Amino acid sequence: MAFETEKKVAIAAASAAAIVCEKVRKTMVPEAIEKKDKSPVTVADFGAQAVVCKHLLEAFPSDPVVGEEDAGELKTPEMAARLQQVTDYVKEVVADATPEAITKWIDHGNGAVAPRYWTLDPIDGTKGFLRKDQYAVALAMIAEGEIKVGVLACPALTLKLKDGEATGILFVAVRGEGATMQAIDGGTPEPIKVTGSDDQEHFRFVESVESGHGDQSLQSAIAKAAGVTTESMRMDSQAKYGAVASGNAVLYLRLPSPKYPGYQEKIWDHAAGVIVVEEAGGRVTDMYGETLDFSKADRLTTTGVVVSNGEIHDKVLEALKAAG
Ligand code: AMP
Ligand code: MG
Repeated sequence: MAFETEKKVAIAAASAAAIVCEKVRKTMVPEAIEKKDKSPVTVADFGAQAVVCKHLLEAFPSDPVVGEEDAGELKTPEMAARLQQVTDYVKEVVADATPEAITKWIDHGNGAVAPRYWTLDPIDGTKGFLRKDQYAVALAMIAEGEIKVGVLACPALTLKLKDGEATGILFVAVRGEGATMQAIDGGTPEPIKVTGSDDQEHFRFVESVESGHGDQSLQSAIAKAAGVTTESMRMDSQAKYGAVASGNAVLYLRLPSPKYPGYQEKIWDHAAGVIVVEEAGGRVTDMYGETLDFSKADRLTTTGVVVSNGEIHDKVLEALKAAG
């Protein structure tokens, strides 16, 4: 089995980060701090990045980590109380955490894309996290220009597992070895597969809750043209990739928002989800059928994202071409 240690460490890291995030949501009203790009960050984003980077630093000290957050502001004197708060939450899973260690771990996530590296979104869907909707801890390892390992922890996602319904789902994929899902708090991993047109109940599409993160009118027109006629399920974060991979939807469309032309997708918003879907038998391309390239920089140079069960992918691309 390939990448056994990477897989084990990624599962442990993402699961521990998920515990920190859920603890924050259950015990406080997380306050959004506005970043330079106006996007929100919370105590939980910092805590989750610290926890994951600690795991990676210890297991693979020479692997760079390209993470969404940095500790810059947290290190300023005005933020001392906030940093202490992050430290206290991280202590839930790392008993001896200190403020100094926390900022060091977070900044370990400021690495650059390299021949082998990890990419991390400590909380993908921070807006969903704040709304008490979906969010994910998304972690992937890229080597030789290919995503090799991906783990998506979706603490608020409820799905049917073999042992019954569970809230808190962990998706795991290793290149060439398939994808699985399991309850975050334990349980047996079960293989997952995308579903097809013979499964009308799940023949539906997912898209973002945030209208500014896509083009909802075009998305619904394209889905319809590809034969997916029911209303979309709107969901935050890469939980959408999990929905397609586990056969709970057949399509996820993320077409460029007319409000933000030229927006470049970030690698940590996709890498883990992409391998989970591909290993479950699905397909991921940009809106012109191009492969997403995770080997160059922290931004994708392709346009939009089309995630499908594979079966309907060409139809979706044709519909996009026809729509011009
Ligand atoms: P979602 O929950 O699917 O909407 O994805 C959340 C992610 O959308 C965040 O992590 C952001 O990095 C990303 N995002 C921010 N602005 C945009 C935009 N204009 N278009 C697409 N994605 C965006
Ligand atoms: Mg994100």
